[in-house]
Amino acid sequence: MLVYRTFEELKTFLVAKVESGLTIGFVPTMGALHDGHMSLIHSSMDHADLTICSVFVNPTQFNKAEDLEKYPRTEQADLDILRNNGCDIVLIPSVDEVYPADYSSEKLDLEGIEIIMEGEHRPGHFDGVVQVVGRFFEELQPNFAFFGEKDFQQLAVIRKMVSLRNLPVQVMACAIKREDSGLAMSSRNMRLSEEALVESAYIFKQLNWAKSSYSKQSVDEIKQIVLRGFEKNDRIELEYFEIVNEDTLLPVKNKDEKARAFFAGVVEGVRLIDNVQLY
Ligand code: AMP
Repeated sequence: MLVYRTFEELKTFLVAKVESGLTIGFVPTMGALHDGHMSLIHSSMDHADLTICSVFVNPTQFNKAEDLEKYPRTEQADLDILRNNGCDIVLIPSVDEVYPADYSSEKLDLEGIEIIMEGEHRPGHFDGVVQVVGRFFEELQPNFAFFGEKDFQQLAVIRKMVSLRNLPVQVMACAIKREDSGLAMSSRNMRLSEEALVESAYIFKQLNWAKSSYSKQSVDEIKQIVLRGFEKNDRIELEYFEIVNEDTLLPVKNKDEKARAFFAGVVEGVRLIDNVQLY
């Protein structure tokens, strides 16, 4: 496995590969890697000739300094798991490499999908995501880029950016990987105590209950029952529970729409998100 820390060195390596017709799959991550990330790596290995994984905790997508500071950083373990899973190339750039002093980027009008749900609770978050992913796309020119449905709204934002900028990259969605308890795998889970990990399985239980009730009850009824459930749970502090159309991310008006339920909340000071398809 090759490890690069600058765009220039990696691009120099890639020139001959691209000229010889090899395709590039790109998996952007913030590290503290787990099996959820590895499912993206495997998907990239299935679709592309060369898989590049980036590990970069992007400061511009954090709206709270404390969240950025506490984000887990486990470089050696990340390199080990990537090597063991057959990743070809890892890019671990510094903040100065990604955002040099003379760097400027144009803010994209995301037409409103960046200010609901995650965007509402983390103002500016998606501008930072667009900035960093746009920067990586520009430098690496991947044929495919892989994103997890765990961050479903992020996937929608990236798709919108690719379409608005007409970028020649195919965005690929990968299913959510879960622990046996149902809890969605997340780098942030490593900050939770054993008890909190057990308690957090309640999130998936609630999402699953919404899914099983979807054909029988109204959206409002489901929302109310789920909200009451979270109110009674004193370990999970709910930020939002929404049922929206998965294409538009707008509230569902009728049951024929492709609906998805979204959760965000805080457990032991750690912010968790999850979602399930309801149809
Ligand atoms: P992150 O390192 O949290 O920025 O995540 C990097 C990529 O991995 C994003 O596209 C995430 O959606 C994806 N990802 C994170 N956790 C999971 C999971 N449990 N299942 C599938 N994909 C995931």
